[in-house]
Amino acid sequence: MTATGHALIGTVIAAKIGNPALSIPIALTSHVIADIIPHWDTATNRKKKTFKKLFIHSFIDVILGFILSYLLIVSFFPKTNLPYAFFMIIVSQFFDWTTAPYYFFKIKAFKWAYSLQKLFDNNLDLPWGLATQIVFVALLVILAKKF
Ligand SMILES: [Zn+2]
Repeated sequence: MTATGHALIGTVIAAKIGNPALSIPIALTSHVIADIIPHWDTATNRKKKTFKKLFIHSFIDVILGFILSYLLIVSFFPKTNLPYAFFMIIVSQFFDWTTAPYYFFKIKAFKWAYSLQKLFDNNLDLPWGLATQIVFVALLVILAKKF
């Protein structure tokens, strides 16, 4: 899933679950579930992209994730503690942050994260690979608002 998708999921978790002993394992699990759902992300067409493009697209994705998460908090979950939400976003993206050093720079110490994600990552190209994420996140936000 995109970093933005993971960020929004992390934000909802932060908004709903104040206890880190619960929210951290839930956020880590959410990453796996979100990546099982067929999705597009900046690495989907890796072979057709230059390294620079891949890096810039991924960077934009991360920034967009923080901006949209902030807007989600302000509009729907204003009582959420911002530093806590930031922390939960990072936890929700944890496997991608730990994959990045190997994925971008071939740093072997991080290969475990890359190999781990390979086990559950399902790709689906645009436009459907983006639609699945929008639907999933929208449903999650609606449920979080209702209950
Ligand atoms: Zn992932």
